[in-house]
Amino acid sequence: MIGVSRYSSLLSPLGVGQTTLRNRIIMGSMHTRLDMEPNGLKKMATFLAERAKGEVGLIITGGYAPNTAGLIEPGGPILTERSQAWELRRVTDAVRHYGSKICLQILHAGRYAKQPECFGPSDIRTRINKFPPRAMTSTDISETIADYVRCALLAKDAGFDGVEIMGSEGYLINEFTVLRTNDRTDEWGGAEENRHRLPVEIVSGIRAATGPNFLIVYRISALDLVEGGATGDEVSRQAKRIEIAGADILNTGFGWHEARVPTIAYPVPRAAWRFAAARLKKSVDIPVVASNRINTPEVAEDILASGDADLVSMARPMLADPHFARKVREGQADKINICIACNQACLDLIFSNRSATCLVNPRACRETEFDDKKAVKARKIAVIGAGAAGLAAATEASQRGHKVTLFEISDRVGGQINLARAVPGKAEFDEMLRYYSGKLSDEGVELRLNTTPDAEQLKRENFEAVVVATGVSPRLPDIAGIDHPKVISYSDLLGGRKKAGRRVTIIGAGGIGFDVAEYLCHSNPGAEPMSRRLNTVEFMAEWNIDATLATAGGLLGDPLAPVQSRREITILQRRATRPGANLGVSTGWILRSSLAKRDVTMIAGVTYERIDDHGFHVTIEGKPKLIEADTIVVCAGQEANRGSFEKLKYAGIEVHIIGGAREAAELDAMRAVDEGVRIGNAL
Ligand code: NAP
Ligand code: SF4
Repeated sequence: MIGVSRYSSLLSPLGVGQTTLRNRIIMGSMHTRLDMEPNGLKKMATFLAERAKGEVGLIITGGYAPNTAGLIEPGGPILTERSQAWELRRVTDAVRHYGSKICLQILHAGRYAKQPECFGPSDIRTRINKFPPRAMTSTDISETIADYVRCALLAKDAGFDGVEIMGSEGYLINEFTVLRTNDRTDEWGGAEENRHRLPVEIVSGIRAATGPNFLIVYRISALDLVEGGATGDEVSRQAKRIEIAGADILNTGFGWHEARVPTIAYPVPRAAWRFAAARLKKSVDIPVVASNRINTPEVAEDILASGDADLVSMARPMLADPHFARKVREGQADKINICIACNQACLDLIFSNRSATCLVNPRACRETEFDDKKAVKARKIAVIGAGAAGLAAATEASQRGHKVTLFEISDRVGGQINLARAVPGKAEFDEMLRYYSGKLSDEGVELRLNTTPDAEQLKRENFEAVVVATGVSPRLPDIAGIDHPKVISYSDLLGGRKKAGRRVTIIGAGGIGFDVAEYLCHSNPGAEPMSRRLNTVEFMAEWNIDATLATAGGLLGDPLAPVQSRREITILQRRATRPGANLGVSTGWILRSSLAKRDVTMIAGVTYERIDDHGFHVTIEGKPKLIEADTIVVCAGQEANRGSFEKLKYAGIEVHIIGGAREAAELDAMRAVDEGVRIGNAL
């Protein structure tokens, strides 16, 4: 068990203005879409109250538009009327009840607004919005400042402790501050002081209207990561102006939404951006917040203890474990469910117009759907298969009070997680294994490795219910020569049992085909396994980031500039659609860019003919072609391992089947954990 004193910086209170935060942990702003659902504010209140109960110091809500032009999308969160403020009291009351502070984020989307009426400082269009912006008039600008002030006053009425002004990520304020998007020649453009005028007027206007007791957090773009962005010195001067205008806390943001550099997904090293927060801290006298890819208490404590920042912002980690701060205080940091930066159940769901949740914690934003009371009758439960689904089911059922035995055919728990964690950048999956291993023993689950029970054994041992979570096996496609020695499966490669040569052809362009290509790109032929996590210096070099911040936007060159590849890799798929089209929205582009930089060839619309000593014979656009390859890696999806499910069913035992065993198509860890937790909760 880890003692409290190890996290003394993280746990120390902070007086800001007239307010005291109970610790240095901020739950960063996240757009969850909860407030867009029926009964949304009730769900949001429950969601945030759970985080307050978990003792987070300060919560910052998702962004609220100060007027309709600032809406990220039609129907998005907005605060323009007293009746809306009155409804938001439900949220602030719920949070206050558990002793956390809460600020409402005010976000004007500017030219990122997905609506035809969007506007910005100039009529310069962004590649990520089909609607071109109209250049704001001086009247638009003064009305917008007044709308920010009105929004802050309404937030005060609603019981918020303060507001956060979103000045980063390429939204309206950020668009005013840099030449990339601001070519105005009036007092709002041109000279740096003019470009900083909008945030300064907004902050000073809010301070004058709300008085000294109201917190103003300003989220500055510490690193734009786009061509034509600000230099580090410009950012420092903006920070000082914002401080003088009346801000209490300076939060940091990294990368515009149109940037071609990953800023929060799993390939980004932990705390990669702390250097930029540390730089800002030297420019101002108000507390500075470090943010992005801070996911463990160790990393957070290190940032604070070293003096790089005064507070840490963690958004997704609060989805993964609402009780992060409480566990740190109680000396139970080792029991925290850590965010693995996959983005699958948070950002990717939001981008497909669904509410966020969390891969490692399916309760997140779904708090009202779970019954956390103990089961009425404790039963003897068997769970077969200790992959993601089985681990989730076993620990959840045990938590409900059942006596659970978890059977695993191999000599270790984790199933497909053991393969995922081998992929570069996906070492965060280690945390999932660590968490579940601890939880198995904490919850008293009996683990039997190297064992597959049959119906007779389960009956003999009087199990009252069985959960089959026996996962999947790689599919072996019906191609002539598939048994050739140069053909290996992705599980043998990622599991370290087989090695690949220099020229590799991959059959299948799904998530695993891309992961395998990434794995091969980062390792020397015949020398797997390899380094699984880039350090910050390697990451900066990979994406051409200027850690000195001397260059505009913090870029040394094109983030997508070619990188020397160690192998010749070809990815094939039969469908004519774009390879990798089904990858996660927020991470697929990173993988596609990484492989494109390394000149990986991707071919769609391929007919597979045969494999022999020369390589892979295929037909492309009606023409036969030989792809010479030393190794062919099969990544052609999976088939369900239904194990003893049918037998158990007919043997009259209560049996449930979950995860890949139930349905291999579209299997991913998100569904596996969700089904595991839900069945464990329902037993
Ligand atoms: P997948 O995404 O369904 O892709 C399977 C690939 O195999 C497809 O490209 C398919 O393309 C090909 N294929 C299917 N049947 C075939 C056959 N009989 N012969 C030859 N080729 C065949 O499955 P996966 O890559 O195994 O991934 C499994 C799950 O994990 C998916 O849900 C995936 O989204 C998730 N995952 C996601 C990521 C990520 O987003 N980064 C990473 C890893 C895993 P054609 O049929 O067109 O040839
Ligand atoms: Fe973190 Fe993944 Fe959960 Fe999102 S879905 S909060 S990235 S673990």
